[in-house]
Amino acid sequence: MEDYFMQETTSFIHSIPVDPLTGAISVPIYQTSTFVQEAPGVHKGYDYARSNNPTRSVLENLIAGLEKGARGLAFASGLAAIDAILKLLQSGDEIIAVDDIYGGAFRLFEQVYKKFGIQVTYVDAADPENILAALNQNTKLIWIETPSNPTLKIADIATIASIAKAGKCLLCVDNTFASPALQKPILLGADIVVHSATKYLGGHSDLIAGLVVTATEELGEKIRFYQNAAGAILGPFDSWLVIRGMETLSLRMKQHCASAQEIAEFLLERPEVDQVFYPGLPGHPHHNIAKKQSRGYGGIVSFSLKEDSLEAARRFVSSTRLFKLAESLGGIKSLISHSAEMTHKTIPPEIRRAAGVKDSLIRLSVGLEEAEDLIADLRNTFDHTIVRSTKYLHHLENC
Ligand SMILES: *Cc1c(COP(=O)(O)O)cnc(C)c1O
Repeated sequence: MEDYFMQETTSFIHSIPVDPLTGAISVPIYQTSTFVQEAPGVHKGYDYARSNNPTRSVLENLIAGLEKGARGLAFASGLAAIDAILKLLQSGDEIIAVDDIYGGAFRLFEQVYKKFGIQVTYVDAADPENILAALNQNTKLIWIETPSNPTLKIADIATIASIAKAGKCLLCVDNTFASPALQKPILLGADIVVHSATKYLGGHSDLIAGLVVTATEELGEKIRFYQNAAGAILGPFDSWLVIRGMETLSLRMKQHCASAQEIAEFLLERPEVDQVFYPGLPGHPHHNIAKKQSRGYGGIVSFSLKEDSLEAARRFVSSTRLFKLAESLGGIKSLISHSAEMTHKTIPPEIRRAAGVKDSLIRLSVGLEEAEDLIADLRNTFDHTIVRSTKYLHHLENC
């Protein structure tokens, strides 16, 4: 596994094609809707830009190569990519999904696909036994995110892939949090990988995009049909931005991982903190699986407060200076978010809490600033916000 990664950066950078027409070293942006044909149906491989665009094709080939899959497809958003995969199913089919699934995917499953007769069972995928127990003959798709959002649970991809094979259903891994620089689910037996390229692949918080990679050409062709039929494609300029982001992916991921590890260790020592969630900590319950199946532990760190209230978390996330309060993750600037009131607000509180997303859970997307500066920002926030508010509470009690 490690060998794949070692030679990868150089070969990846040189797999980005030089423009055959002009020699341009940067991929040209083909900002066009249609392509002139010599005779009806006689053309250079491109006829209409919803079906195919040369800039998008470069991106689709690059992500397929990075994920070691047969086919890559680029969509207008991560959710559009997920939507195209779900179109493989039909009424009566069932999905088994990870219980702390991305909120937008949960909304799509529950409020769109449910009414078309597709049922979803949510399980804690950290224990593959739960998937085995939920499997039945209607199960057509297993949906996991690992590391999951926001509690960074790890699912054993290879074990779940063998369950999927035995159950004759597809395994789709949302690889957004790890990125292909750290984890390659297809090499571990997954059938489909999906990305919100909005996050680490784009890497600069400047676009919305989604990518799908399939293990086989045949499955890729089926999803490509839905990509063209429904039309939620990624435009040429945004395709170019994702390519540009991917050029520095491995370099960025190294730094995100190193800083996140330092920050997780810092948080462990803070008396205000209840739990720290980071797969790189030896105390993380699935640290060994994370170590086995990925090359690094990623740039996302979550933690909960001893004062487990929406209010305490709200106060904290509103007080950091370098960590900007915003949804999303994976960019160069560090972000902070309050899961219960932001990314997971579409998930009912009982389901959210059962999946371990406490009221005070705070998620950090560790950016590319100096780790020391980020730690100083957090230390300052603990020292001032939390302590001041505790004093304030005492003051109220004494009144
Ligand atoms: C953001 C995200 C998505 C959705 O992607 P968009 O690009 O916002 O549509 C899906 N899965 C995960 C894990 C995400 O973080």
